Amino acid sequence: MQNLTALDILGKLVSFPTVSRESNLALVDWVEDYLAAHDVRATRVYNDEGTKAALYASIGPEVEGGVVLSGHTDVVPVEGQPWETDPFTLTERDGRLYGRGTCDMKGFDAIALAAVPKARAANLKRPLQIALSYDEEVGCLGAPRMIADMGRTMPKAAVALIGEPSNWKVVNGHKGGIGIATQLRGHEVHSSIMHRGVNAVMEAARLIDWANRQNEAGRAGQPGPIDALFDPPWTTVHVGTIQGGTADNITARDCRFVMGFRCIPSETVADWRARYLDEIARVEAAMRAVNPEARIDTDIRFDVPGLVPEPHGDAEALARRLTGDNATHVVSYATEAGQFQAAGYSSVIVGPGNIAQAHQPNEWLAVSELEAGEAFTDRLIAHLAED
Ligand SMILES: [Zn+2]
Repeated sequence: MQNLTALDILGKLVSFPTVSRESNLALVDWVEDYLAAHDVRATRVYNDEGTKAALYASIGPEVEGGVVLSGHTDVVPVEGQPWETDPFTLTERDGRLYGRGTCDMKGFDAIALAAVPKARAANLKRPLQIALSYDEEVGCLGAPRMIADMGRTMPKAAVALIGEPSNWKVVNGHKGGIGIATQLRGHEVHSSIMHRGVNAVMEAARLIDWANRQNEAGRAGQPGPIDALFDPPWTTVHVGTIQGGTADNITARDCRFVMGFRCIPSETVADWRARYLDEIARVEAAMRAVNPEARIDTDIRFDVPGLVPEPHGDAEALARRLTGDNATHVVSYATEAGQFQAAGYSSVIVGPGNIAQAHQPNEWLAVSELEAGEAFTDRLIAHLAED
């Protein structure tokens, strides 16, 4: 445990098959032991069932103004993917480290953990905090409770660096996202007398056509300067799957789908949710006018605030200084960065690897990205040791 490199630690982390649906506690046990071996006490924050935990720790003085290195411990599944190596055995070939999670994002977790002994040895003036979540890949579900607990038990850090794959570029914006499971209950009759029934599939079509109209309006609109950074520069409203109906000649009793929103920074997830619920109320009222038993139920599947670019933000300034990247980048996938920012941390995404390799079969991280990570944390530790 004493002198593990980022490569050693990555090999260990990859060996735990922490697919989001599984427990991550074996990995958390290992990380806790590793930190304890360096005299660093970690705090766990469990999920409701006690089957998964986030873990955070702080190195250095207990004062405000530190820096959080944030990663997630869970990975996406490997089933059905043509892997050429064992996805849970780190395998080095031609300068690449293959394994599930190497890129997204156990590589960054390993870099952060490998920095612990150096941070301990340095005379830090402000703390280095490490925060590792669970259930990121299923809608950033685990981080909010961890972030709230950190706020209660530790002096507040000024900056959160979220190490999602960005090839060490500084990403200062991402869209917010919300998924709203929508279940329509209609009324079954023979289709020859469909005027007496409520066809859940055809009513769902009204809601989906509402989504089409929102997308058309967004496309036709003129984006503001920050929104214009995104591709596309408008909020997208999407339905990927739908189930409903039992026969061609029966008005469908049930229909369900998930309405997914990816929101530009100038618009909020909450506003879009409210607009959608208004539309649902309108459609539901028309359904009930035919049959009072008809209804539409909704359930929030995930709800992640966007990362809004901060004018002259501390996180961006620090990340630029640590990486030398002076350009501006935004991404369209949601991360925990928006959640840290919503909790009052100046936040950016900056981490090893390319998002193109994330979630793929034969996921890999370049050895050079891991080495760049060591230089990154060395500079960060030097920064935290400055007066
Ligand atoms: Zn990730």
